[in-house]
Amino acid sequence: MQDLQQKFDVAVIGGGPGGYPAAIKAAQNGKSVALIENLELGGTCLNRGCIPSKTLIANAEILQKIKQADEFGISVGSVSFDYARMVERKDEVVTKVRKGLEGLIASNKITLFRGFGKFTSARTIKILGQDNVEIFAEKIIIATGSEPRAIAAFPFDYQKIHDSTSLLNMTTLPKKIAIIGGGIIGCEFASLYAAFGVEVILIEMLPRIIPMEAASVSHFLTQAFQKQGIHIETNATVLGIETVKEGVLVKLAGDKSIPADIALVAVGRSLNTNEIGLEKAGVGVADNGMIPVNEHMETNVQGIYAIGDIASKWWLAHVATHQGLVAAENASGKKATMHYNAIPSVIYTHPEIGTVGLTLEQALEAGYPAALGAFPFQALGKSQAAIQTDGFAQIVIDKKTGQILGAQVVGSEASTLIAEMAVAIANELTVESITETIHAHPTVAEAWLEAALAANETPLHLPPKKKKA
Ligand SMILES: Cc1cc2nc3c(=O)[nH]c(=O)nc-3n(C[C@H](O)[C@H](O)[C@H](O)COP(=O)(O)OP(=O)(O)OC[C@H]3O[C@@H](n4cnc5c(N)ncnc54)[C@H](O)[C@@H]3O)c2cc1C
Repeated sequence: MQDLQQKFDVAVIGGGPGGYPAAIKAAQNGKSVALIENLELGGTCLNRGCIPSKTLIANAEILQKIKQADEFGISVGSVSFDYARMVERKDEVVTKVRKGLEGLIASNKITLFRGFGKFTSARTIKILGQDNVEIFAEKIIIATGSEPRAIAAFPFDYQKIHDSTSLLNMTTLPKKIAIIGGGIIGCEFASLYAAFGVEVILIEMLPRIIPMEAASVSHFLTQAFQKQGIHIETNATVLGIETVKEGVLVKLAGDKSIPADIALVAVGRSLNTNEIGLEKAGVGVADNGMIPVNEHMETNVQGIYAIGDIASKWWLAHVATHQGLVAAENASGKKATMHYNAIPSVIYTHPEIGTVGLTLEQALEAGYPAALGAFPFQALGKSQAAIQTDGFAQIVIDKKTGQILGAQVVGSEASTLIAEMAVAIANELTVESITETIHAHPTVAEAWLEAALAANETPLHLPPKKKKA
């Protein structure tokens, strides 16, 4: 039986943004590689997450721009849209990107197994599905990702009570939606649906939405959402969701109920580490389902690595990818280390949010003599020209050394702008490295130059701070 097993240098379980780059990197290192995927290549990100949601958000942005046309002196008459066609376009984009990915895997001579992979020992995996085989691998990378988390008190019925996956597949829009969870996914859907004219109620248990972000950023988004007509309920605990003839009734603590046509439950993710036979391999797993790893992405079992959503608190595609590259290098006999000091994170709301490194609050709490320099988009010529003046950029620095510790940007192009600060923080640059870099004019990126000058108390396009008497 053992002789019939196919043997590989490296096997990767899960073909999401963690797993498939790991497989490519190991193949580039000259290893024979097996990639095992139960559903579609690209994982949550490509099929049910980043790409489908951003495709729909791109539609919303066009609609918002058309509605703004009048301010530019352009008359467009009445505007209408076909949501079902938008969803169709989203599916076309996903299919196209997935086809490209399948070609990439084949061109790297990676053996793709279709089926559910389960450890039978620390070096063997049984695959059940379209392919039914047991394979042997010297090194194994686990990249099984996550699923929307269901809450026992209000289980998904995918008709009126949705998770992010079923909501992305709906081809009609409700008149009113209740969104439970004011984190990244909840806020992105709130913004998307409001842009299409849906009445949105956003319900968050904590005192503010996007509670993990700087208070100034959360406050700005709250105000922007309120201007867009999104109703926000904070400090609100959802006890249950009742389905009624007209839709749903979201029951809150304190005897309050919120009626809506449908509800989206976006309260986190559960990790796919339960059913994969970790006990057969001896791999340890924490109570919350996370697999503890060291800085080389290696688990407690030598030669077995874990990456992506299952292996850190950063549930982001680009973190999964970087972890995958680190794990693959180590599995190929090289040495690579994972660092988390410069992880950019983007929230695709209207306005967009980009953050990296520490907030001022976190820097002070960590004991840095921290200071903050901020610059409003209002004062940028490019933002005025494009009528995109809502937003700001801010840089957090160590006052003693000038080192950049963190940055936050809210507003148009924030998703692209944050890359400059990720490079600065990853390379431990100081605020002078930004002030001494010539930034093209007129661009929104000038906000970083101006925020850096403000952090140094030498603002150029802001009045000087009043000196204390
Ligand atoms: C609506 C939404 C929007 C998002 N937007 C963004 C965004 O804009 N930017 C961003 O960075 N992140 C975003 N994310 C998060 C991002 O999608 C995840 O962090 C990322 O996909 C995690 O990658 P992964 O490789 O760890 O797991 P996944 O992408 O979940 O992939 C895991 C893969 O493993 C497969 N699998 C699981 N178990 C097995 C098994 N036993 N055998 C074989 N195959 C198996 C699954 O089918 C899946 O394909 C979003 C998520 C959602 C839900």
